[in-house]
Amino acid sequence: MKRVVIIGAGASGMLAAKVASDRGYKVIVLEKQKRCGQKLLITGKGRCNITNNCEIEELIENVPTNGKFLYSAFYTFTNDQVIDMFNDLGVETKTERGKRVFPVSDKAVDVVRALEKQMRSNKNVEVLLNSKVDKIEAQDGKIKKVILSDKREIECDSVIVATGGVSYPRTGSSGDGYKFARNLGHTIIKPKASLIGLEVMEDYVTDLAKLSLRNVSINVYNSKNKKIYDDFGEMEFTKYGLDGPIIKSASCRMGDLSKENYKIVLDLKPALDEDKLDKRVQKDFQKYANKNFENSLNDLLPKQLIPTIVKLSKIDAYIKVNQISKEERKNLVHLIKNITFTVKNYRPIEEAIITSGGVKTSEINSSTMESKLVSGLYFAGEVIDVDAYTGGFNLQIAFSTAYLAAINC
Ligand SMILES: Cc1cc2nc3c(=O)[nH]c(=O)nc-3n(C[C@H](O)[C@H](O)[C@H](O)COP(=O)(O)OP(=O)(O)OC[C@H]3O[C@@H](n4cnc5c(N)ncnc54)[C@H](O)[C@@H]3O)c2cc1C
Repeated sequence: MKRVVIIGAGASGMLAAKVASDRGYKVIVLEKQKRCGQKLLITGKGRCNITNNCEIEELIENVPTNGKFLYSAFYTFTNDQVIDMFNDLGVETKTERGKRVFPVSDKAVDVVRALEKQMRSNKNVEVLLNSKVDKIEAQDGKIKKVILSDKREIECDSVIVATGGVSYPRTGSSGDGYKFARNLGHTIIKPKASLIGLEVMEDYVTDLAKLSLRNVSINVYNSKNKKIYDDFGEMEFTKYGLDGPIIKSASCRMGDLSKENYKIVLDLKPALDEDKLDKRVQKDFQKYANKNFENSLNDLLPKQLIPTIVKLSKIDAYIKVNQISKEERKNLVHLIKNITFTVKNYRPIEEAIITSGGVKTSEINSSTMESKLVSGLYFAGEVIDVDAYTGGFNLQIAFSTAYLAAINC
């Protein structure tokens, strides 16, 4: 019986195990953690955005790095098939804003349990936990065996490397797959953080830490003052800068920060243009005419934000509202729609949702996920140099590439 070793029991490894075992192969899954799917458990803030319910072409458009490499994978195991698979496994799904698909239960743990149960349902699958792979050996350009860190050796015909990237290393993904691939002659495109929080120059963000904002918009400008991205939705302040969905999405449109400067302009009231917002502020100023300025913004802005806006507006916090000039009011309105942050740094890669970089795609056959350098060596998931925006696209990559590797291994 053909023996397939799968390294990693994350999203891609668990699916690959099921598919390969259904082909009648003996499958040995090696997972270094004591449980399967540790990263999956924290996906989508514990809700797991399984995939995106869009057209296949849109899936590809949402993969800025090497999206075209995924044509075969996405068309062979589609987002519809992912949804059907979970429904068949008893995980009912729902589609939310932006066609994001979640389990109805809103529990990532249900996704992990379903994938693990499915994987273990075939008796040809053996799952070895606490089993860290140290090396993959090939002979005459063909896979021979894997060697574990406790020196156990497992002979096999094929290996699927499903070890993930380097972000959130406590979940088990710490870049081991890059080492295996490099030792076997593959090129590794330097890993870098993607979908990550941003550190900014403006120190006052520390006062705003933990403040979440909804229904705000951002515009991102490069050094040439060219708008490179805009978005609308949720974000939050941290003690070092900005984070949350729209900031993470912006981060993966930004390049090398040592070569390019970026500014993020935050609009706290995108639904109102400056004229409408001005009318709204005038109404509040009439209501609070005899109050101090610092006490006049409670109806308009979150409490935690008010002292910062007051400071940035350069209007005296203790001036009576009825003494604020028209020009000061207009400047305040402009400020509320244009709070500008200068990006200093990305947060460390360990905090990234996604690792950009990994095994070079031109060295992998995109129709099979097999290495072009070593026969019997396959790659699946985040270890490959592909990465997508938020919206369930990254898990779809994991599932589609795993499926393709498993039907070809
Ligand atoms: C906080 C967070 C939230 C996210 N939310 C979403 C979301 O909602 N939707 C979405 O599409 N994507 C999301 N992602 C991204 C998504 O989780 C990953 O793209 C996906 O898990 C990658 O799957 P994978 O199988 O390639 O790797 P992983 O799921 O990381 O699995 C790799 C496995 O390999 C094991 N392993 C590594 N090295 C070895 C070794 N030497 N020996 C044995 N085992 C090893 C690891 O322990 C791990 O279990 C999120 C990521 C993070 C960090």
